[in-house]
Formats: sequence, C-alpha cells, structure tokens
Amino acid sequence: MAAVDPHLKRYATRATGMKASEIRALFAVASRPEVVSLAGGMPDVSVLDFDEVAAVAAEVFARDGASALQYGGGQGSERLRESLTMVMAEEGIHARPDDLVVTTGGQQALDLLARLFIDPGDVVVAEGPSYVGALSAFQQYEPRVVHVGMDGDGMDPDALAETMQRLVDEGRPAKMIYTIPNHQNPAGVSLSLERRERIVEIAERFDVMVIEDNPYGMLDFKHERRTPLVSLAPERVIYLSSLSKMFSPGMRTGWVLAPRSVRDKLVQLKEASDLCQSNATQGIADAWLRTQPWTQHVRNFTELYRERCDAMLAEIESAFPASARVSPPTGGMFAWVRLPDEIDTGAMLPRAINARVAYVPGRGFYADGGGTHEMRLNFSYANETRIREGIRRLGKLIGDEMTL
Ligand code: PMP
Repeated sequence: MAAVDPHLKRYATRATGMKASEIRALFAVASRPEVVSLAGGMPDVSVLDFDEVAAVAAEVFARDGASALQYGGGQGSERLRESLTMVMAEEGIHARPDDLVVTTGGQQALDLLARLFIDPGDVVVAEGPSYVGALSAFQQYEPRVVHVGMDGDGMDPDALAETMQRLVDEGRPAKMIYTIPNHQNPAGVSLSLERRERIVEIAERFDVMVIEDNPYGMLDFKHERRTPLVSLAPERVIYLSSLSKMFSPGMRTGWVLAPRSVRDKLVQLKEASDLCQSNATQGIADAWLRTQPWTQHVRNFTELYRERCDAMLAEIESAFPASARVSPPTGGMFAWVRLPDEIDTGAMLPRAINARVAYVPGRGFYADGGGTHEMRLNFSYANETRIREGIRRLGKLIGDEMTL
C-alpha cells in the first residue's frame, strides 16, 4: 500500500483530485524489451537523419549564437511563426505570423487555453473517447467534461446538438467544444466535411468557441487535405498544432492560431508560465522547416505508419474475436478497439503484460468512467514484425478471457 502523503492537507483543492496514473507503474514493466508495447504514443524519430539535424543545429548556433542562447519574446520567434504559417498553408489555412503564439508543444497550448477559459464547474464538450493529455490539462481547472459519441466519421453532430441543448436546458450551457478532427487520438478517425460544417454551425448557434487540435492532420494515409474548422469560422475556432508528429516531440514546438484578443491573453499566460519558448529549439525548428524537405519527411513518417497500421489491422482481423470492432484509421498513430462486454481492458492489462504485450485501457480516454471494454493500440513505434506478434499475443489472451 502507498504511504500516506504528509503534505496532503496542504495541497490546493484542485490538486487533491489529481491521481497518479494506475497504469503508469505497469508501463514501467511494459518497457522491458520482451514486452511488445502498443501502449505508447511516440513517433518513430529513428527514421530521421540525425546528422542532418546536427548540421541544422550547428548552423543555427554558428549564425545566431547570441540570440539562440538568450531569452526571447512571449509570443515566440517571428521567424519561426513565419515558418509555421507555411506549415499551416500546406493544410489550407492562411494565417499571419502575428496571429500565432508559439508554445511548448500542443500540450502547453491546451493548458494555457484551459487556464484562460475554464472556471471550476464549466462544461467542456469533447469527443468520447478523447485525448488523455487534454483531459488532464483541462482537469486542473476543474471543469465538467461531457462526451459526445463518435463513429467512423468522427464526432456525431446530431448527438452534439442534442448534448448542447440538454446542457442549456439544465442551466449549465457548455463553454467550449474540444475536437481533434483528423486521425483522432485515440480513435484514429477523421471528421467528414459535412460534419465539420455542422459542428461549426452548432458552435455558432450555441455561441461557444471550438478548440481544434490538429497535430496529426498531415499524417494522412491517403495524403488528403481535410478542411480545417478554423478556415470555416476563423473567429469561432482556436486552432492548435505541433511539430511533434511532423518533425520531433523533442523540439517541444507547438503553436496556437487564435483571434487577436485571445492571442494577446495567451501571450500573457505564456509569459506568466515560462517567460518564453526556448530560442535554441525555435531556431532549430525554424531552420529545419526552411532548409529541409520537411514535407517529404512527413510523407516518410506517414508511409511507415500506414504500412504498420495495415499490418496491425490484418492481424486483428485474424487474431481477435469477430465481435471486436475497429474503425480503420485514416492516418495518425492509433487504432481504437471495442471489445465484447465481458472484457474489461483495465482488469486485463496485468495479464497482457504477463503475456508480453501492452496497450492503453480505454477508461483514461473518458472523463465519465466510459471505455471499460475499449483499448488504444499504437502503430507508430513498434516495427511490423513486433506489431504482428503483439496483436497475436493479445488476440490469444482475449480469446482465453472470453472462454473463462
Ligand atoms: N494533442 C493531441 C491530440 C495529442 O495526441 C498530443 C500528443 N500526443 C498533443 C496534443 C500534445 O503533444 P505535444 O505537446 O508533443 O505537441
């Protein structure tokens, strides 16, 4: 049993609800080499050429040593913001560098947005399942998260409209809608264009902001470019993205595109939080985008993940029970599996690790206790042979659990 925390009585109320992840301890075991981990959320940066990265970094320090080693402005480097508008243009968004704030990954953007918008008890509407890191960033500010169900085309707008109306009727109208429209983490699916239009229209009707979180948009298996919500309603949508999946999470480079007044507040919050983004990593990220064929690198990641995803789906088809449901991912790094009701993926995890395979149980992706029979599988990190082996181990375990 864990020892009682002697500081418990001193913590702020909001911190008392924070729980260490039960599954984190299991994941320490899951990192043993004999365990195939389909649990993480890491891109496979080993496909990058590290000599190239080193050369880019060396050039940055040779050219701008003094400024790279100095503090910078709270909004982020202007050069990098200019490069990031180029990244957004690839996705069909036309923004000016001045409309952006650079953040420590998309994760800090989520934290700053939550700090800006959420009072205790405010309602945030999000897809169910949704990104664990967003749920925990929001949770610090004590909202009530209400989920809206998804299918193979993403969040269901009819269910969204009903939920929004119900919340109004209950006297607790939603404050914002959080969505990951492309290759969602964890569900792997993307919103259809029709649904994007409807979601924006619903946000207009109920007068709430939409937070569009798009780190995976460019990792599209068919190399499609899907219409960003922000391009449909720039004043209604706050857009955030990150170089973590397009280049490297180690660069910790994310950004927010927001209406002017929101942007100004975010800059103040960013300064209060960490003064400024690292100039060294901003310089490297900027030089990478300006001097390297970065879209080709993104394509390489995408092709690799597509092959691994195909292998995973093929193996699921033959190794999992016929009643398991998985919507084929449109891109990104994750597949989401719904298992029969007799399988509790949380309870099964220790047995899976004994069987030398790990995944993330579904419950963490819901703020309301859902997800008991669901699991997230990652296909970006393990190689194809390991993925197939992991899925076979998991399939056998699920089969055994069903016949118990
Ligand atoms: N949003 C989503 C949907 C994510 O999946 C992640 C990372 N897994 C993030 C934001 C944050 O990532 P980062 O801080 O590395 O940009």
